[in-house]
Amino acid sequence: MEINQIIAKFHEKGFKATPQRLAICKYVLLSKDHPTTDMIYNEVKQEYPTISLATVYQTLHLLSDIGLLQELDSNNGISRYDPKTSPHINIICKKCGKVEDYESERLEKFWSKIVDDLGFKPLGQRIDVYRYCEDCRRSRVK
Ligand SMILES: [Zn+2]
Ligand SMILES: [Zn+2]
Repeated sequence: MEINQIIAKFHEKGFKATPQRLAICKYVLLSKDHPTTDMIYNEVKQEYPTISLATVYQTLHLLSDIGLLQELDSNNGISRYDPKTSPHINIICKKCGKVEDYESERLEKFWSKIVDDLGFKPLGQRIDVYRYCEDCRRSRVK
């Protein structure tokens, strides 16, 4: 989605497309590490020190509302945000919660067959695989 389409969505939902909100969009949509709200807040705060956590929440809600990102709830109650909304596998560390994407052409083919079988277009999907990441494995050995 182009930036002016995002701005139009903001207006449609009654939000002003402030530079702070657009900075949040830019950061989240380009990020590869499935950031948490805190990570996003801390990052954008460097450039916009007056930004509030509420603005970050609202903006993230709006972006998931319009289908530009997916909110990933986790069992520790901390959501992460995934800008990739097409079918892919999230490889999640059981210990630190880090999420990495795994894309697979095989999965996309398989998924399109599943969608045919379902007979409707899903609003979203989520495929998670769990493990301990390198860092956590190393610290377990210590
Ligand atoms: Zn880890
Ligand atoms: Zn992902």
